[in-house]
Parts: sequence; structure tokens; C-alpha cells
Amino acid sequence: MEWQAKEEELLAKMDLVRRGFGCLAMVATWTLAELVELAVTAMVAVCENGVYTVKSGYRFLQTEFQNQQPGQSNPLMLKPLWKGIWSLKVPSKVKNLVWRAVKNSLPTKQNLVRRKVLTDDCCDQCKMQKEDTFHALYLCPKLEEIWLSKQAWNQCSLRQVTSFVDLMGHILAENRDPDLFAMVVWAIWKRRNDIRVGKRGENLPNLVQQAQTRLQNFLLHNSATTTSTGQPPTQWQPPAHQQYKINFDGALFKDENQAGLGVVIRDSKGQVMVSLAQRIPLPSTAIEVEALAARRALELALETGLNKGVLEGDSLILMNALKSNSHSLAQFGHIVNDIHYLASQFPMISFSHVRRHCNSVAHSIARRALSFSSLQVWMEDVPPEIADVLQADLIALVE
Ligand SMILES: [Zn+2]
Repeated sequence: MEWQAKEEELLAKMDLVRRGFGCLAMVATWTLAELVELAVTAMVAVCENGVYTVKSGYRFLQTEFQNQQPGQSNPLMLKPLWKGIWSLKVPSKVKNLVWRAVKNSLPTKQNLVRRKVLTDDCCDQCKMQKEDTFHALYLCPKLEEIWLSKQAWNQCSLRQVTSFVDLMGHILAENRDPDLFAMVVWAIWKRRNDIRVGKRGENLPNLVQQAQTRLQNFLLHNSATTTSTGQPPTQWQPPAHQQYKINFDGALFKDENQAGLGVVIRDSKGQVMVSLAQRIPLPSTAIEVEALAARRALELALETGLNKGVLEGDSLILMNALKSNSHSLAQFGHIVNDIHYLASQFPMISFSHVRRHCNSVAHSIARRALSFSSLQVWMEDVPPEIADVLQADLIALVE
């Protein structure tokens, strides 16, 4: 019941964004952290000793999955599982895929039917069973030869595995070559998507070998950076209950004569509601870029109905100008006036200045604005390229 209401609310927000921007280049999922959002009533039962492990994390998810009980979330329970996934020595896009699979937020046919995008949830590969996450990535009979090729992954040795969350928990907790496993899962999902859009998917018999080669290449080129995962350098602070934190940042690309705006809006649990990247012609000063990013952030918040909370940036000059009630005479005064006007439409809004390392998600989005289309919005997600930056904030939150 509660979930239906939540989904309807999100659909409505989604519609607003779609109409507001005309182009919604990438729609992530609305089931974002469905499991996080869903209930932690089982917390005591799952974790009697107060010791949080990968296993207790996935058991918790598993329980929630089976019960589908709404309630309050507690990211603490998920931390070991997230950490396990985030400590994998694989490319960020692979971690992100596994993470989304664990949250059941991949656009599988079952999830698309649930969102009323499709009416048929039958798997395209085997045409026998419904395609949920577990089926698409592991259970489909068409994938059997992959899993049989490696003892550590095949079902006989993974007794009582009943969901992808459960499977990933076992793979991590029992160290069943989790890096390669994640690479294979990524390749399976990519192959499935390629086939769905009419491309030739990777050859199944070669899939594990090619995943292995990709993993070796990755490790060869990233040996210095892959060891430092797990410890986040940021201390982003979530807003109060039922409020939103609207982080923004700007980036200059002088050679290209352009600037990038980055925005991310998160709730009190650190869950992303929406994020945005936009490219604009280069203004004459850096502070104007910051001010334009702040204005865009408030526009996005209004468009999506996330209109209670805190606007947060890392430019001290701008945030001081915004906090000051006097008419701004600065060069960027007209933008400050726009921002004050937009702010007046919020039932509740405050301005906060933080250091850059507390604003790293918005900063990273703005820095990458050149690599996206001129305007791109991600519902309930951030660009996959910066998933690790977001994850660092989430881990810092529960530490
Ligand atoms: Zn199938």
C-alpha cells in the first residue's frame, strides 16, 4: 500500500521532469534502494550480536525481499554488503551494475512490468520463465554453461541460494572469486541488452574467458588505485528527516569555451532523488558558473517537487551572497536575485556552505559535464561514472 503510493509519487515527479526538460536522456530506476527504503524491522533478528557482516547484510536484504514489508530503513545493515561490492577490484561500471542488481533496480522485464512499461515479463533468452534479476543474471537455463564452467559458482556448490542478493552475499563472504564473478555478471547483462536492441551479443562459450582478460587488463592499469577503496574521504551530511539536500557545483572548460553544472538532490538517508549535468556557454567569471549551478539546482528541485531542504555549495562568496538579504550589487547579482526569487517558492529552504570534499558528488558531475549530452538527468541515480563517489558518501554516512 505504502509502496504503491511511493511509486505513484515518483511517477508523478518523473513526469514533471520529463515535461520540464523535454529530453530525458537517461532514466535510471525508481526502485532506488527499494530494499533500503523497505523496512528494517527484521534488524534485531538478523543481527543478534550487533555484529554487522556481509552475511548479516545480505540476509537482511533477503528477509526484506521475501517479506516485502514496508518500514524504516537502516543503511547500517547494508554497509557490509555495499563495502564488499565497493571493494571489488573491478571497473566502477561493474560495481555499479552489481550494486543495482543487489538493490533489484535493474530494468529487468519483471521490473518493467511492475512499472507498467511492459506487459510481458517472460525471459527473451529461454522463453520459459519470468525474467527477474536473479533469472537474468544467473538462473536462466541459457546461462548454464557459464556457471557450470567454474565450480565455485555453480548451483550445486551454492546451496539454498534463492535470490541475487543471497548469491552475491555468498560469493563475497566465501571469497568465490568475486572480482571475476562480477565481471561475468556485467558481461551477461551487457549481452542481454545487446541482444534486446538487435546487436550480436558476446558468444557465450567465450564470455568467461573474455571477462577474465578484461579483468586482467583492468588490474594491470589500475593496480595503484584499486587498493584504496572502502575508506571514503568525504563527510557529506544528510538533511533532516523529510527534507532534501540540494548540492550543486560548477566547472570551467576554458579550452572548449564551455562550463559544466552539476546537481544532486538526496534525502535524509542519503538516497539520490535526482541528479543533473548541464553544459552551458562559458560565462565571464567562475563565480557566475557557481551561481548558475545554484540557480539550476533550485529549478530542478522545484520541477521535481523536492522543495523542502538545504541548498549547499562550496563557494563561500556565493553562499554568503545568498545568505545576505541585501540587494546584491555583485557582478553575479542578477543571478543571485533569480535564486532568491526561486527560493521564495520553496515552503522551506536554507543555504549552506561546505568545503569541496563534502560536495564531491555535485563536483564530480560538473567535472564530467563535457562527456554527457548538453542536458542530462538521472532519476534516483547519479551518472554510472561517479557511482563510487556517491558510494563513498553513503559509507561515510554509516561510519
Ligand atoms: Zn531465461
